[in-house]
This record gives sequence, structure tokens and C-alpha cells, in this order.
Amino acid sequence: MTGSASTLADLIAGIQTGGIRVVDLTQPLHASTPILQLPPEMGQTWKFELQEISNFDSRGPLWYWNNFKTGEHTGTHFDAPGHWISGKDYPNNLTDTIPPAKFIAPACVIDCVKEAEKNPDFLLSPDHIKAWEKTHGRIPKGAWVLMRTDWALKRPQPDEYINAQADGCHTPGPHPELVPFLVKEREVIGFGNETVGTDAGQAFTFDPPFPCHSGMHGANKYGLAGLIHLDQLPPAGAIVIAAPLKIVRGSGSPCRVIALVPGK
Ligand code: MN
Repeated sequence: MTGSASTLADLIAGIQTGGIRVVDLTQPLHASTPILQLPPEMGQTWKFELQEISNFDSRGPLWYWNNFKTGEHTGTHFDAPGHWISGKDYPNNLTDTIPPAKFIAPACVIDCVKEAEKNPDFLLSPDHIKAWEKTHGRIPKGAWVLMRTDWALKRPQPDEYINAQADGCHTPGPHPELVPFLVKEREVIGFGNETVGTDAGQAFTFDPPFPCHSGMHGANKYGLAGLIHLDQLPPAGAIVIAAPLKIVRGSGSPCRVIALVPGK
């Protein structure tokens, strides 16, 4: 066997024997999946809706199937660079044209659970990343940086998950200074978190507004929002597979995000 063939054989043997664990980082998609609500004068995303076509009945005696409708950015989902004005002019920047090799990448998981518990507006800073690197090594080029807050585990109800107040939503996310640091100094593939979007809830007030969308997509990088179970990943060493649906000219898509994790 060639080197790469034996690597693949080792991989599948590891998955089949449990030497490599497969972790599901995806939230269930249903009518109560939390979605963002924008100011009423703006366009709104659709919540997830399932409509039964037939269920072994007169509409289809031998088959069960459904129609569904939803926004591209519902639940656990992928943000393509073309989602944002800063990334709209890159070639191959939408769900059908991003090279598929980009959908498989190593993950660095930054534990911000205590910080987000104390402060729902917690912002992940470059200093926090540098402290993480002292223990776990430098973030490799082409890695996902995933912000672990256990947000979805601790806030299972949609209203507490979205955490909307009179002055906007209050959810943790990256500090405006973090994004250029990750893009320029670490050359990450993208940023992911466990809240409804990649930016913090108050990011509309930041300079620039929505720095993660603006900075990541402005550098042709990706986003993963609505992740769950980052608690089941090691700080370093996992591989994440996150492939959006191949929607022609899609700005993003719900996706099944899974991680391969070295076993114990
Ligand atoms: Mn999104």
C-alpha cells in the first residue's frame, strides 16, 4: 500500500474499532431551532419547517418522506465568505464553489466556559489564545478555532439561547482584535462557536460591526455557528468535517458537523 492508502486504512480501522471517536457537533433541526430575529424593517430568515409528504398512507403507501424549508443560516451551519459584503468578491466563495478539501480541517478548542458563565457578553481575546498556546502549542495554519462555552448545553430553551434583551442579544463571541490576529498571525481556516452566530450578540455595536463576519469573510475564511458538544473534544488533535449543502450560490447551509477524536 502507498503511504496515503495505509493512512486511510488506519483511519477507517480506527473508526471501526473505536480507537478514533466520532463526535457529533450538530444540534437537532426542528421547528424550535433558535434563529436570529433582525429589526422588523429587514428581511427575516425562516425557521425550520417540516411538512410530511406521505407516511405509508394513501399519499405514498410504501414510503415516508418530507418537504422542508428553512433559512441557510439555521441551527448548526456553515458561513461561506460570500455571506458578507467583505467577502462577496472572492472567487469560489459560495457553498457550491468552495473547494471540498476546505471542509476537513484540524480544530483548536478554546475553553471559555467559566468566562461565559460569569459574563454572557464575554469576548475571546488574542491574549486568551496565547495563554492556550502555552499549554497546547501554536494554532496550526489552516485550523478551525472553536470557542467552547457549552452555551447550547446550558441554555436548551430558545429564548435563553438567543438571550435577547431590550438592547440586543447577549451571547459570547470573538473580540474585534481576535479576528485579525487569527487571520494574519495564525492563518486559520475559520472561527466557530456554540451560539446562534459566529459574532457576539452585541457585535452590531462593535467597531467594525460584526468583526468576525467582516474580518473572517473579508479574508476568504469560513464560519461555523450553532455548534454543540465542543466539551467532547480535546483542546487540540481533533479533525472537524463540516460540509455545507451544495446550494448553487448558497451563502451558507445547515450541515452535519462531525469531529474525529483520538480515543483514550
Ligand atoms: Mn450564519
